[in-house]
Parts: sequence; structure tokens; C-alpha cells
Amino acid sequence: MHLVHPDALHFDRSVDSYWEASADPLGIEPPPLASDESCDVAIIGGGFTGLSAALELAERGIDVRLLEAGPIGWGASGRNGGFSCIGSHKLSYATMIGRYGLDATRAFYGAMKESVSLVADNVNRHGIDVWKTGEGEITLAHLPNRFAELKAEQAFYRATFGEENQLLGPEELRQRGLSGPEFHGGLLGPVGFGVHPLNYVRGLARAAHKAGAKLHPRSRLLRWEQAGGGHRLSTAAATLTARRVIVATNGYTPEDVSTYHAGRIIPALSNIIVTRPLSDAELQEQGWTETTLAYDSRNLLHYFRLLPNKRFLFGGRGGTDSSAAAADGYRAYLTATFHRLFPAWARADITHFWRGFVCLSNDLVPYVGPLDEAKGVWTSIAYHGNGVAMASWSGRQVARLLLDPKARDKTPAVITRRLARYPLPAFRPLYLKGAYVWFNWQDSR
Ligand SMILES: Cc1cc2nc3c(=O)[nH]c(=O)nc-3n(C[C@H](O)[C@H](O)[C@H](O)COP(=O)(O)OP(=O)(O)OC[C@H]3O[C@@H](n4cnc5c(N)ncnc54)[C@H](O)[C@@H]3O)c2cc1C
Repeated sequence: MHLVHPDALHFDRSVDSYWEASADPLGIEPPPLASDESCDVAIIGGGFTGLSAALELAERGIDVRLLEAGPIGWGASGRNGGFSCIGSHKLSYATMIGRYGLDATRAFYGAMKESVSLVADNVNRHGIDVWKTGEGEITLAHLPNRFAELKAEQAFYRATFGEENQLLGPEELRQRGLSGPEFHGGLLGPVGFGVHPLNYVRGLARAAHKAGAKLHPRSRLLRWEQAGGGHRLSTAAATLTARRVIVATNGYTPEDVSTYHAGRIIPALSNIIVTRPLSDAELQEQGWTETTLAYDSRNLLHYFRLLPNKRFLFGGRGGTDSSAAAADGYRAYLTATFHRLFPAWARADITHFWRGFVCLSNDLVPYVGPLDEAKGVWTSIAYHGNGVAMASWSGRQVARLLLDPKARDKTPAVITRRLARYPLPAFRPLYLKGAYVWFNWQDSR
């Protein structure tokens, strides 16, 4: 029973995503780790988390190096849906308030909002062309009875976070160019915008490089040993010795190498299709003409957005088999769902399909903090499929925590509780299968 099939870890293969086909070049040529080196802080993983940490550390004059198994952004960061928005948890707010308290929950919500602003700041500060689109994000009721739930949610957000969301009935959706046969109203929140994720992660890499971080793509960590109070991190070619380490591998975390994480996370697949550019007539025919970020109200949600060049991106959770052989079946399933929700586009070619791993934790919230403080090992992980913004924020935050324990005061308690181990971790693939069956049933009524 594979948690992650080896087919999904060919770090030397391209992802074949639409983002790869349309991204700006990285523009720098950082070399793989080719000779033995040392540094103060080593970062494992070259996505939003690792690069945000590298940027923060380098800007503060720290000697930092980053090891990435593939090209920069090869993991989820370069292949996601580009929703820069809030929502990096699967724990309900009601349970969160019960477990961590109202203040901590508000602080967490505040951090998520701040993370979206941070992405905008990064884009502006470092001059990254991310094809920024849309204002806010809409949840669409996938069954008529979900509209009442959205109404309750609107009241909850207002009372709890002081957030004003707009409730839109089916006719208002139509007027706003956000309609479809299975959308029975929606709740439009003010936070969020769309990005080209590979352009964004490459822009972060350029910024970190410029600030002095030494990036080593195509440098997969294979062995991690303790040595003289520090760490020896070996790739196939060379060894990096570091005083401190940040593990930033999220859904791609190698549990055999980073044993700290063993049994504490579940990588889960997310799949995406992208169409050819749609004509204005096709957009009108469907009644969907806006670039607003959208997802439906299912637990196993579908997420979708019109890109600025009028291609349509449609993504969905689900699927527990990450082997190459299983991919065609999931592509067919996702395409059929897309055609059901957007019937006017059933004849539009799907030009790209790809998959990748998000990361879940047992507590259903992210974790930002130490793995072993005495040994100087830190991590930021588990954004529950919502890390464009939160991984940017959390990567910066884990760097701040590593440098200054007082930064803990500015880290919401919701995300500083140690990662719990799953009971009987070998059964995690079964837990995931069981959860999908349960949520599918819940979503159907
Ligand atoms: C298909 C898909 C759609 C998504 N859509 C959205 C979305 O629209 N909005 C949103 O907010 N979030 C989305 N997400 C989630 C989001 O992409 C992630 O939460 C975020 O990118 C995590 O960033 P990260 O840097 O922590 O991890 P990653 O970007 O996954 O980076 C981890 C890196 O670690 C590297 N690595 C692994 N093992 C080793 C090793 N041994 N040595 C060196 N390096 C190693 C990997 O190669 C990888 O590049 C989506 C994810 C997927 C897969």
C-alpha cells in the first residue's frame, strides 16, 4: 500500500502543466550542489515555503543554502491552481474555537488574511509578473440546501471575524457572469486573487537568490546524519553541513529521510485540467465570464477559474492512486465532472492535465515551528491544499521563529501545536480512502 507511488517522484521529469508551458524563464542558473559545502541554515525543498524562508533569512544576512530535488518550484508550488486565498485548514472553525479558543482562531484567520496581502507585496516588491486576476473568492452551493448553509456562514464570518461576505442568489450569479446549472447561489468573500503559480515561485527564487541565498535545484537530499552538533545533508553528488535545518517539503516530504515527520502527515492528490482559450461566444453561452476564484461547497471540492487568456482551469480533489497507470482514469473522471458543471464547454479541447500532492495533518491545521529545537530543526507544513498564500507566510514565519524565539508571540497558537502522529500510520492510505467515501456520501445529500 503506497502512500506515494514512486511514479510521482520523478524529480527529473517535467510536470507537463499549463503553467510550465506558459511560464517566464527562471532567469538565473543556480547550480546543483556539486562540492561539499557548509552553511548556517540549510533548507530542504524549493517551493513557496522553502523560498520564503530563504528570502527572509538571506535578507537578514544569514548564510543560507537550499536543496531542491527537482527544478525550482517542481512540487506543488509550481503546479497548483494559483488561488491565492485563505483556507489552509480542514478543521471547522467551530472545533477550532473549542480547541484553541476564540482569540487564537481570530489570530489564525488574521494570519491567513495577512498571507494573501504578503503574496501581493511579494509580487509588487520583487516585480513578478503573476497574471494577477480577480478580487475575492466565491463558494458556490452545489445543492439547493447548501445555500442556507452559506447564509449561516455569512452570519458566522460577520460575528466572528467582522468579515463582510456577499450572499448571491442564482439570478445574481447570472448577472455577475458566474452561473452554471449546478450552482444554487454563492457566498463571495473579499479576500483572494489569482496568480500564475510557477511565475510566482520563480520570482520568489530570483528574489532569494538576489538577497544572497544559495539555491541548489536538482539536489535531492538522500541522507541526513548528525555530526558535531550540526547536520550532514548528503545528495548523490556532495554533502552540505549546516548548523540548522528547515524542512520545507510539504506533500513531498520523504519520511525515510526526514524521520521527524514519519507518520505525521498524509500527502493527498489534487488534479487539474486546463482548456484551450474559449471564445467570447462560448463564455456567454455558458454564462461564466469572470476571473473570480471559485469553488463549490463540497467537502471534496472542485475549484475553478477563468484565466486572463480565457483558458479555463478546473481542479478537484480525490484519488488515492498516484501511479502513472491511474492518471488517465482520473483525467477522464475530472473531465466528465467539468462537462457536467460547464456543459457549454463540452467540446472545448482539454490541452493539459496534471496532478500533485497537497499535505494534510492529523490536527487538520498547518504546523509552523520546531521539530527538534535543541538540534535546530524546524518545519512549516500541512496547508491542506491551500498554500499559495499560507506557505509564503509560514515560510517567512518559520525563518523568523528560528532567528528569534519571541516571534512565537506573533504566531497563532492554532499552528504551533506539535504535529501529532496518526494512530497506526501504516494505515494512512486506508484512512484517506475511508474519508473520501464518507465525504462523497456527505456531499451527495
Ligand atoms: C494540483 C494542486 C493544486 C493546488 N491548488 C492550490 C491553489 O489553487 N491555491 C492554494 O493556495 N494552494 C493550492 N495547492 C497547494 C499548494 O500548492 C501547496 O500548499 C504549496 O505549494 C506548498 O508549498 P511548499 O513549498 O510547502 O511545498 P511544495 O511546493 O510541494 O515543495 C516541496 C518541495 O520539496 C522538494 N523535495 C521533496 N523531497 C526532497 C528531497 N529529498 N530533497 C530535496 N527536495 C525535496 C520537492 O521536489 C518539492 O519541490 C495545490 C496543490 C496541488 C498539488
